[in-house]
Amino acid sequence: REKLRDAIQQRKSAHLAQRDWDKNDFPWSKELENIQKTVFKIPSLRAHQLPTMNAVLSGIDSILVMPTGGGKSLCFQLPALLSEGITLVVSPLVSLMEDQLMGLKARGIEAKMLCAASTKQEVNGVHSDMTNPKSGLKLLYVTPEKLAKSKRFMATLQKMHQLGRFSHLAIDEVHCCSQWGHDFRPDYKFLGIMRKMFPGTPILGLTATATSRVIQDVQKILDIKGCLVLKASFNRPNLFYEVRPKPSVQEECITQLHQLLEGEFKGQSGIIYTMTIKDAEELVPVLRSRQISVAPYHAQMEAQVRSKVHKKWVANEYQAVVATIAFGMGIDKPDVRFVIHHCISKSMENFYQESGRAGRDGKPAKCIVFWRFADLNRQSTMVFTEQTGLENLYGLISYCIDSHRCRRNIIAEHFDERWESADCRGMCDHCRTPRETKNLDTTKYGENVLLILTKAASMNERLTGQKLIDLFLGKGPTKLRIKEATQQGLPRERAENIVAFLLIDGFLKEDFHFTPYNTISYIVPGPKAEAGVPPSSLIVGGIKKLSNTSGSLFSPSEKTINTQLKLCASNSEEKVRHMKKVDIKSKKNKP
Ligand code: ADP
Ligand code: MG
Ligand code: ZN
Repeated sequence: REKLRDAIQQRKSAHLAQRDWDKNDFPWSKELENIQKTVFKIPSLRAHQLPTMNAVLSGIDSILVMPTGGGKSLCFQLPALLSEGITLVVSPLVSLMEDQLMGLKARGIEAKMLCAASTKQEVNGVHSDMTNPKSGLKLLYVTPEKLAKSKRFMATLQKMHQLGRFSHLAIDEVHCCSQWGHDFRPDYKFLGIMRKMFPGTPILGLTATATSRVIQDVQKILDIKGCLVLKASFNRPNLFYEVRPKPSVQEECITQLHQLLEGEFKGQSGIIYTMTIKDAEELVPVLRSRQISVAPYHAQMEAQVRSKVHKKWVANEYQAVVATIAFGMGIDKPDVRFVIHHCISKSMENFYQESGRAGRDGKPAKCIVFWRFADLNRQSTMVFTEQTGLENLYGLISYCIDSHRCRRNIIAEHFDERWESADCRGMCDHCRTPRETKNLDTTKYGENVLLILTKAASMNERLTGQKLIDLFLGKGPTKLRIKEATQQGLPRERAENIVAFLLIDGFLKEDFHFTPYNTISYIVPGPKAEAGVPPSSLIVGGIKKLSNTSGSLFSPSEKTINTQLKLCASNSEEKVRHMKKVDIKSKKNKP
């Protein structure tokens, strides 16, 4: 029955989507255009803005998915002015609300906000506005905490609704409802009661998070299954995507950064994202010692200092900020020419948001990720406690270790969009310099890794990723080495990518252990290995197609099944052959 209901909701959604929301002959169309031009001083609307506003004004529930900076706010601000009563806007951050209020006030629009810091007088003023038919208040911003925690506010809201003054409910950053998203906030769950509590008041959810899973989850939580979903494309054609192997020696990595900032990006503005505050603090002095003008930005700095760094960066007094993810919402510098990830983000979602701060002006900009296996463990030990933390991280890892597909394709797939390679127009490393690729049979590698894990387990040794890779390459403690399982001549980087692939393929898995000081990730057999199923095959990129083809980068020990392209790792189920099951289960839980 559940399935049937879902199918009906989907039909409803699809039906709504087919209606012509782009029309200009709604009863409000003339007035809408008038306010757009005279009050907001916006000469023309962007894609999806008009359809969203028409849907909102038609009184139906909808969700608008649009990349950051696309202009989502206008989609509830403008309809608010065309409607009787008040539009309630739920927003997660006071700073975001303040920004919007400033903009609205500058246009002479009556708007207020309520948050934990509101004075008694302000609160009383808002409450009387809500129920007073003579009040000209059009937009009221609140944090979700306010809704969830203030009974008085909810009571007044009910009164406002009874008086017919509750015109619309807009929920900004609506992905915060969902645990699948990248920014879950428990107080957003409370919004689930709004649909039933305020019948007749249309709900508009807004977000830049595009995965269909998150959107479906949001619909369920808000009780608006089958609502209209409007989705803008996430393709950012002016961004060039690239992944580089991160040197294992810190000094070499600095040299590469130095070369980028003093070479290709000389005189240009950018962001370097690090994983931890410590990384940011350490990177700044070494870059400065090379005469590169950078400053740190992270959550442990005082707000004043942070805002000074931000200002100086906007004024181009610093070439780059070396920042943690604290450098996020509200950053709106148009001419950011590069975003470098010194360490991988914790999900594709995060990566898209962070790298998306580049090239807001529409001019070309680069997004470079430095990828190394060691960073996988650093991130995984941080995120594994989140419900979908590992899954999200592995999504980004598959972007990093992919050695041939268009990076845009991979990002698009994540957002359930389809961008053809033609849409990339050479704006990613793999499209710019296509590689010869080979389909690597990982069955043997899988068997060898299991042999190593079994032997270690039998000696009561646990293996971290690094230790496993050492043994895989015939290094590390002699007593744990297995001659037959050693990969002669395999470059370490390739071995790391193979183990990373076996992890995201489910052949191996990470097993986390707490110590008093930190969390350690050990590698153990994953569900596939436990079931005796071999890993999927992996496509690896070799020499560049366009260069001299005499020598191959593929090492002789890498057995290839064919040189055909295309076959995706995850699609190779038909090739699954049952392999010798290695009995590890009984041993792995020993201390
Ligand atoms: P989002 O919430 O999608 O990240 P905002 O609503 O904050 O984006 O809008 C980003 C910027 O775009 C704002 O400065 C806004 O005034 C501007 N903007 C919105 N719509 C238009 C438009 N149709 N034309 C020009 N600028 C617009
Ligand atoms: Mg916004
Ligand atoms: Zn591409």
